[in-house]
Amino acid sequence: MGFQLTEEQNAIKSLARDFATNEIAPFIGKYDERELFPIEIMKKLHEYGLSNLAIPEQYGGPGIDRVSHALIIEEISKACAGVATGLEANSLSSYPILIGAREELKQKYLPKLTEEGKFASFALTEPEAGSDVSSLTTTAKKIDDHYILNGEKCFITNASYADFFVVLVKVQNENNEKRFTAFIVDRELNGVTIGEKEKKLGLRASDTASVIFEEVNVPAINRIGEEGEGFKIFMKGLINARPMVGAQALGIAQAAYEASVSYAKERKQFGQPISKIQAIQFMLANMAMEIEASRLLIHKAVHLLQEGTPSDQHASFAKCFASDTAMKVTTDAVQIFGGYGFIREYPVEKLFRDAKIMQIYEGTNQIQRVVIAKDILN
Ligand SMILES: Cc1cc2nc3c(=O)[nH]c(=O)nc-3n(C[C@H](O)[C@H](O)[C@H](O)COP(=O)(O)OP(=O)(O)OC[C@H]3O[C@@H](n4cnc5c(N)ncnc54)[C@H](O)[C@@H]3O)c2cc1C
Repeated sequence: MGFQLTEEQNAIKSLARDFATNEIAPFIGKYDERELFPIEIMKKLHEYGLSNLAIPEQYGGPGIDRVSHALIIEEISKACAGVATGLEANSLSSYPILIGAREELKQKYLPKLTEEGKFASFALTEPEAGSDVSSLTTTAKKIDDHYILNGEKCFITNASYADFFVVLVKVQNENNEKRFTAFIVDRELNGVTIGEKEKKLGLRASDTASVIFEEVNVPAINRIGEEGEGFKIFMKGLINARPMVGAQALGIAQAAYEASVSYAKERKQFGQPISKIQAIQFMLANMAMEIEASRLLIHKAVHLLQEGTPSDQHASFAKCFASDTAMKVTTDAVQIFGGYGFIREYPVEKLFRDAKIMQIYEGTNQIQRVVIAKDILN
């Protein structure tokens, strides 16, 4: 077991850090403040080869290893987790395709992301089906060589910009049996409507909207895998994606920690820097310890993915522990900044707002604990 990054991983980390420092951090304030999608930054990430991180070279992706993927996401998230979320929506959407689609579908859709720089969305959540995926009500009915889709997906990242949607539905057969099935649905099809963009607590530089399907005629060749395989394909996709949510949370926590250390050394009260006060030192010590533990859990989870031995439990450990850490670290960071922590001009206010969603999306942290407990007890 080694704890050192390879030369290549270090180079990738530096590239991502330079990009985040020079191309995201100086500009992100206006996007966050005005809740704008940073399309210019997204285009630059694509130009620099820092997008579509999960896609292998054969489909035009960077073909990097999972540790490198996590390092890039950590660095981007240090500058803005909203940008990282927009970036990772393409990874999230590409997993079900890579896992379950026929070669011809991979060849058709993945290069739209890698070569044409387009966006895709992963459409699972519905207004009445969040944690309880089994209760989703979007349906598809097969008629000849097409399926007719009806239903609504909500809270879909990049929905306003997506060229296509990777969607989980229930296919209803003649006997009224319903089977989970995954599809790629082109945005341009008649009957696909995008809802109003959501206004959010954090991740304001990301796009979130609902997608409505009304009598949408989807070619049967756009089915991912067989009828009945959709649930498994989507869940396998999430095992790949959850450690990367951990990496986003880690970036947020690392940024809040670094800002807290600097501020504690500068801010004077009672005639001394507040870093001399033990109450502040203990908060910093806890931050450093929990951030390091998060990083190790994330790197173990991505290492298992890289080795081809994905683990539900480790994906959930990484996502859950790192996001709980990000919430705790950003809360303490606001505390260390005192009143200034509550003011938008200072960096920790945004980090605190962005941290919260990490405990919610891609399965809430309660659901991660359900997954872990199920794994233990089985
Ligand atoms: C900014 C943002 C971006 C998102 N992006 C996407 C996306 O791109 N694609 C997508 O499909 N979805 C996306 N989502 C949706 C997100 O994944 C869901 O919001 C999340 O899974 C929780 O579902 P819910 O909101 O319906 O909450 P609910 O499932 O209604 O949960 C409410 C509360 O009950 C708890 N709870 C529910 N069931 C259990 C249980 N069995 N045990 C213990 N506690 C339980 C939950 O933990 C939570 O605290 C996004 C959401 C947001 C806010």
